[in-house]
Amino acid sequence: MLSARPAQLVNMASVSTARLISLLKTNQACVQHVSSRASSWWSGVEMGPPDAILGVTEAFKRDTSAKKMNLGVGAYRDDNGKPFVLPSVRKAEEIIVSQKLDKEYLPISGNADFCKKAIGLALGDNNPVLADGLNVTVQGISGTGALRIGSAFLSKHFAGPKVAWLPAPTWGNHVPIFKHVNMDVQQYRYYDPKTCGFDFNGALEDIAKIPEGSLIVLHACAHNPTGVDPKKDQWDEMSSLIKKKKLLPFFDMAYQGFASGDVARDAYAVRKFLDDGHRILLSQSFSKNMGLYGERAGAFSIICSDKDEAARVMSQVKILIRPLYSNPPLHGSRIVATILGSPDLHSMWLKDVKGMADRIISMRSKLKANLEKEGSVRNWSHITEQIGMFCFTGMTPDQVEKLTKEYSVYLTKDGRISVAGIASTNVEYLAHAMHQVTK
Ligand code: PMP
Repeated sequence: MLSARPAQLVNMASVSTARLISLLKTNQACVQHVSSRASSWWSGVEMGPPDAILGVTEAFKRDTSAKKMNLGVGAYRDDNGKPFVLPSVRKAEEIIVSQKLDKEYLPISGNADFCKKAIGLALGDNNPVLADGLNVTVQGISGTGALRIGSAFLSKHFAGPKVAWLPAPTWGNHVPIFKHVNMDVQQYRYYDPKTCGFDFNGALEDIAKIPEGSLIVLHACAHNPTGVDPKKDQWDEMSSLIKKKKLLPFFDMAYQGFASGDVARDAYAVRKFLDDGHRILLSQSFSKNMGLYGERAGAFSIICSDKDEAARVMSQVKILIRPLYSNPPLHGSRIVATILGSPDLHSMWLKDVKGMADRIISMRSKLKANLEKEGSVRNWSHITEQIGMFCFTGMTPDQVEKLTKEYSVYLTKDGRISVAGIASTNVEYLAHAMHQVTK
């Protein structure tokens, strides 16, 4: 069986030179064979397109202009254009470090304390749904992961059509999240390009045509990418229509508190739907409202009809999570639980989140005022009417291209700007550039 042994294990002294050369050649051929076969395994893999948003950042980084602005990325910046760690988060981290906690695995469903506090924040701690134990809440890998667990659960257990009805337009990742689990996607009218506002009648007309018992995805507040939210009375009407059509609402709440600066106000739709008797699904993210982007802190909830159903649903959600990532990360969930669990830190955080929301709101006003100062005769009132991190400016792809090429202002082709990326030092420059490309 000498020939089956690797060359280096052969006793050199007992082998002739000719035999040694032959063994070495065989060994080399083996290595070549393995490497050429390995490189051909993926030869059929095609180059995919770059991510629409991250591609903008790449182009921004290559630009050498001193005036360049990155308004593509959805992350908050302070008034100096720098990433911002909330003071309440810094404080919570000090507390956590001083506790010298261990780094053991979390359960499959995540940090129980975090889950309890997260759903309490969304629904209001006194919500009867929580008192009755109707919620199944698990920690997700932030909002994206929460949506992904939800899509997996729906794909396996939802008895209605395997179609997600999404607003048009919607956050780009919604489509692949549902497609990943072999669900189809359809859209209902949402944004009206003529008014740069909410197409309320269009939305109602389309929702009325969705087949009974289907799944509808709703942005709870600060709609991404448009910044356009329904007013309270419009939510009320949508809730009753959705009830009448027996649709299952899946709320994506990625910006609670970040829109208006008031966590209860931003949760209006979610709470109203529950008051109206809907059994909802809910995804929550702490990326924006606590600035925990890279910590991946989020939650996924299903509101059930009774406790027994909740126990069965929880068991199945855990079965889905286990092979996906086993259990979620620890640190971000500890930060959220520490902040929401301490009255002092909680009120400090409410101030932090209001500070971020207010800075964004003031940048909207300044941008609009400066566009008027530039002499723009276009109606820019949607800049201040829209809410949250993003503004759908109404600029065309050609205008966007010009803005980037001539003024080094980077944004997505759909004309969306991240208002959180504007500072008082460059808002005038931005208004000037926008006026030049739109006049
Ligand atoms: N939903 C929407 C509508 C979003 O805008 C985002 C963030 N861009 C998310 C979900 C999820 O973000 P994350 O995974 O960072 O929590």
